[in-house]
Amino acid sequence: IIELQGVGKTFRSADGHVRPVLDAVDFSLREGEIVALLGPSGSGKSTLLRIMAGLIAADRGRVQYRGQPLHGTARAISMVFQSFALFPWLTVQQNVELGLEARGMGKTEREAKAEAAIELIGLSGYEGALPRELSGGMRQRVGIARALVTEPEVLLMDEAFSALDVLTGERLREDILELWQGGTMPTKAMLVVSHNIEEAVLMADRILVFASDPGRIRCQLAIQLPRPRHPDSAEVRALID
Ligand code: ATP
Ligand code: MG
Repeated sequence: IIELQGVGKTFRSADGHVRPVLDAVDFSLREGEIVALLGPSGSGKSTLLRIMAGLIAADRGRVQYRGQPLHGTARAISMVFQSFALFPWLTVQQNVELGLEARGMGKTEREAKAEAAIELIGLSGYEGALPRELSGGMRQRVGIARALVTEPEVLLMDEAFSALDVLTGERLREDILELWQGGTMPTKAMLVVSHNIEEAVLMADRILVFASDPGRIRCQLAIQLPRPRHPDSAEVRALID
């Protein structure tokens, strides 16, 4: 669905210092797969996701979405952030509706779509709550509902579980996999950034490992286990240990 060829990105700091962050990344995210992206801090994982989401532009190389340049296409790509990125003064419903703001949609339709996304992720009854009244896991559910409300084909998750305690993170991850496997969400491919090899093995069909200085793909690992995967199964342990 998304194809990157020779993608590079360099940041220039205020003092004029130039720092290459991504170097010639070739990568395709295909329909039907979940890919995990692992790599050291600062290796450019978030930068790559932001390029794929169209939030920033690459300096070099080509990024295509269904064979068209990413820039300017009506793209259905959503991103979930580690820090949730909610507006604290807006309710759950309003935060989720923000995902639809740029779409020129009528109020009634926006409300209905937001309610459906909130229900899908298990937050019905909390539409009027403010983020500070919710637990971390529930706040991230709001972040996910806001990402899903546009019915994205591609979901990019940037350490979406790492601000949560272990059990809450696992619970949310399992709920997302259940939606994915049940075909209840319109999403056709996911890219999941993680620092956790177990999470990567449990979720992904393929794991990319980034090397830093500057970021590029160091290796790829295809996971050939069936889903669902149990964390304690011998096959999963063999990959993690
Ligand atoms: P982490 O695991 O800590 O989230 P990451 O792999 O996601 O790291 P990025 O956030 O993509 O890494 O950052 C890669 C490098 O690019 C870092 O050195 C960072 O300081 C730099 N960087 C990122 N965004 C900008 C920016 N807007 N301006 C300047 N430098 C930036
Ligand atoms: Mg990051």
